[in-house]
Amino acid sequence: MKFIGAHVSTQGGVFNAPINAKAIGATAFAMFTKNQRQWVAPPYTDKTIASFRENLEKEGFAPNQVLPHDSYLINLGNPDPAKRKKSLDAFTDELTRCQQLGLTLLNMHPGSHLREISEEACLTLISESINRALEATEGVTVVLENTAGQGSNMGYRFEHLAAIIDQVDDKSRMGVCIDTCHSFSAGYDLRTEESCRATFQELEDIVGFAYLRGMHINDSKVPYESRKDRHHSIGMGTIPMVAFEFIMKDARFDNIPLILETIDDTLWPEEIKRLQEMAGA
Ligand SMILES: [Zn+2]
Ligand SMILES: [Zn+2]
Repeated sequence: MKFIGAHVSTQGGVFNAPINAKAIGATAFAMFTKNQRQWVAPPYTDKTIASFRENLEKEGFAPNQVLPHDSYLINLGNPDPAKRKKSLDAFTDELTRCQQLGLTLLNMHPGSHLREISEEACLTLISESINRALEATEGVTVVLENTAGQGSNMGYRFEHLAAIIDQVDDKSRMGVCIDTCHSFSAGYDLRTEESCRATFQELEDIVGFAYLRGMHINDSKVPYESRKDRHHSIGMGTIPMVAFEFIMKDARFDNIPLILETIDDTLWPEEIKRLQEMAGA
């Protein structure tokens, strides 16, 4: 079964996310656990937690259909120890929030070396930070997202994701999320069925589908290999439809959240319907 949805709004409170997801015909959703542009947020009240759990059940979502996304401010590979600690505290808080809401996944961008340290040293810092965050929490899996490789962001090679997982102690709480737009921008070809097969074989060989916990289904505004992160609506960008059809028809992408982060939210119901049709639903 394909779980297809979008990154929905939490305006008014996190408990609105399942309602917003259901309203667009989604069977999966992503959300921020708190304001993603601020370092700290007040803790959830018991009422907020209870309302979220109630709405999640009422709208028919299981925890594995929800892929919360962490704050864009967090950089677990920051070379500056004080700034890295600030990121670790914020990340641990996000894991705790997921745990409180009864959710089991937290999607994150690996981190950036800021041109101050080597890529390898940055990956090690990211793993060390994750180890500490996992020790402080329970029951939530860290889901590393691949990136377009813009700026000094790590995660643009499947090898980066594998190297981070390799240095994490509790691998049972590690996963990956592959973003089609980021992959394409980073130089993973998705332009033909053949190239899709090769790209996902590379994912299997380097990371392993056993770690796949979600996908971000985005078209791209920029050409192949441009190393830029510019999402577009499905069918309107540079990624041919064959890539989305490949994913929707392939059973390796079953039973995980497949999340649209496309730019026009008024198109989401249509995009979800189209993807569901490709999946044969
Ligand atoms: Zn993404
Ligand atoms: Zn992106």
